[in-house]
Amino acid sequence: MLTCGREEFRSIAVSLLPRVSVVLESWQRGHRLRSEYIRNRAVLTQDGKDRYHEKDLRMRVNVSGCTLELLQGDIVEQSVDAIVNAANSELAGGAGVDGAIHVAGGPAIMDDTNAKYADGCPTGSAVESVAGLLSANHVFHAVGPVWRGGKEGEPELLSSAYRKCLQLAVDHECSSIAFPAISAGVYSYPLGLAANVALKTCIDFQKWHKQPREVRFILFSEGVFGAFARSLETLVEMK
Ligand code: ADP
Repeated sequence: MLTCGREEFRSIAVSLLPRVSVVLESWQRGHRLRSEYIRNRAVLTQDGKDRYHEKDLRMRVNVSGCTLELLQGDIVEQSVDAIVNAANSELAGGAGVDGAIHVAGGPAIMDDTNAKYADGCPTGSAVESVAGLLSANHVFHAVGPVWRGGKEGEPELLSSAYRKCLQLAVDHECSSIAFPAISAGVYSYPLGLAANVALKTCIDFQKWHKQPREVRFILFSEGVFGAFARSLETLVEMK
């Protein structure tokens, strides 16, 4: 757990890591600050109703000149070159992030996947479609593994699904890509383990390929954001 202040953490991380520097925004002092922040989240709007600040949970690292960023939010609101969907292998649409993407993007996305991928997409891989009404040029439909205890190749399959999306981004000249926490919802992959695989795969890819220039993880809840933030801190400290 992070116990030092923002400047201390930044200088420790930077000194440990010649090629990866750290910028922490709004989550600077770890859990203590985070819980204070959460208590202060409800704000009064002009019409007297409470609503939430949603945009302040954010963490960013620099990987060999590229950016990897964690944000709490809704992936369908992102403006990026490619949005990643956590799809099923039939590409049939479903609940969770899949449902949100099809609702927000409209029927063009399903029409395109039906036309191009009649056989669906195997677990551990991903395929490209148009993005319909989303503020993106492409949707990459990634099929992560269902968690079955960890002895059925789940880490390799999850890593492979992320890698395939990153390769699709390179192939389609996308400089920015937004990921959800693939497999960490209905597919029940333990959150901390899913975060480690996701972040390590992306950091390794960006280090080797120097692209995509911007990788964003859009994490739907504070709990998911916290798991990814802890994992990212650990990975950065270990490098
Ligand atoms: P899977 O079937 O791969 O587990 P899910 O869609 O069930 O995929 O969940 C993956 C993650 O996406 C979960 O952390 C879930 O909370 C999150 N999620 C659901 N809707 C959205 C959304 N609109 N934007 C970002 N993340 C979302």
